[in-house]
Amino acid sequence: MGLVIMKFGGSSMSDAGRIKHVAKKIVAKQKKGNKVVAVVSAPGNTTDDLIKMADGISSNPPEREMDVLLATGEMISISLLAMAIDVMGKKVVSMTGPQAGILANEDYTRARIKKINPQKIKEQLARDNIVIVAGFQALNPNGDITTLGRGGSDLTAVAIAAALKSDLCEIYSDVEGVYTTDPRVVKDARKIDYISYDEMLEMAASGSQVLQSRSVEVAKKFGVEIHSRSTFSENQGTIITSKEKIKGKEMESFLISGISFDKNQAKFAVTAPSLDTADIVREIYGRCAEIGVNIDMVNQSAVSDKKSVISFIVGGDDVKKMRKELDKIVLDYKASVSCAEHFAKVSIIGIGVKSHGSVAARVLEILRKNDISIDMISASEIKISCIINEIDMLKAVEELHKGFELSKK
Ligand code: ASP
Ligand code: MG
Repeated sequence: MGLVIMKFGGSSMSDAGRIKHVAKKIVAKQKKGNKVVAVVSAPGNTTDDLIKMADGISSNPPEREMDVLLATGEMISISLLAMAIDVMGKKVVSMTGPQAGILANEDYTRARIKKINPQKIKEQLARDNIVIVAGFQALNPNGDITTLGRGGSDLTAVAIAAALKSDLCEIYSDVEGVYTTDPRVVKDARKIDYISYDEMLEMAASGSQVLQSRSVEVAKKFGVEIHSRSTFSENQGTIITSKEKIKGKEMESFLISGISFDKNQAKFAVTAPSLDTADIVREIYGRCAEIGVNIDMVNQSAVSDKKSVISFIVGGDDVKKMRKELDKIVLDYKASVSCAEHFAKVSIIGIGVKSHGSVAARVLEILRKNDISIDMISASEIKISCIINEIDMLKAVEELHKGFELSKK
């Protein structure tokens, strides 16, 4: 008898009809002879709505209370889903993150899972119950409920799969799987059948919204195979697994797996005495680690004998936080900061980047042909990222998708 972890996102839980549909899918999976643990997100936009409610009360709510508030969203989902399964005459029990034995560190609002005590879940499974667990929440050492950062239900599901040594973690959402690029942007984007953990991590970190990156990191670490698929169809989705397993399945893997993109990128430039730049860079990295901000494309260049510029890219919600931090940091040095917005990052991801040096040349050629100028560029083993003007982003994605023939199978 197999053990399957099924995770359903907010759009699969947004109304009574959908919750009943999810209940049917879970019961059908059990009927096939599996034990099932289902992890669920808050219904629809509940988490965003809760954040707005907090904004209406305070501009700086205590993080502990924010977690108490946000954790309620997932609790709506577990109870309603358990009721829907009960109506179908099946044995079911819902559990909050703390009840399910999910233990995290002390950080409120962005807690990290330290350990899962799966005993309670196992006991319920042994009694033939379907177990429904609230995603995105955990218990911290103070005995408080905390949340795992946005998109954290994916992480809950993968971590439970690892703790229970389950055969499979299915992550259901309103898309059919992982695509070569966002199908809302490029109509002939192709669904990817298999993708490696490393490629998926790069896709998730550079704009693809399908899975939370931390969940992919944990999946890689514990060898949990993820099947990302749609709640609303029976089609095969995308399997995220190790490079080795994929090699056995596909004759030849694609040079490039996909293209991801991210708007709202800002470029910061700190001009400072050259002697201080090493200290400033160190301080920037230190502060970013503390406040949970990601910086990218860090570059340092001399502008005169005595002055240097440190430039880097920060995206989305982090821009405001970074600006505040930098204002503090430069006070200690004779330095100044500027911030230019309206950039976008376009990333080309695939194992072929490393083995075929020609990929970079082709990227540059395609963008040049389309009069798209590149502001910054960086390359890793499996990714090339370009910073371009935001207005050029969609064209760049379309042309690169065409240029690398990603819609063909
Ligand atoms: N409800 C949480 C969020 O919206 C967690 C999740 O959906 O994964 O971020
Ligand atoms: Mg999600």
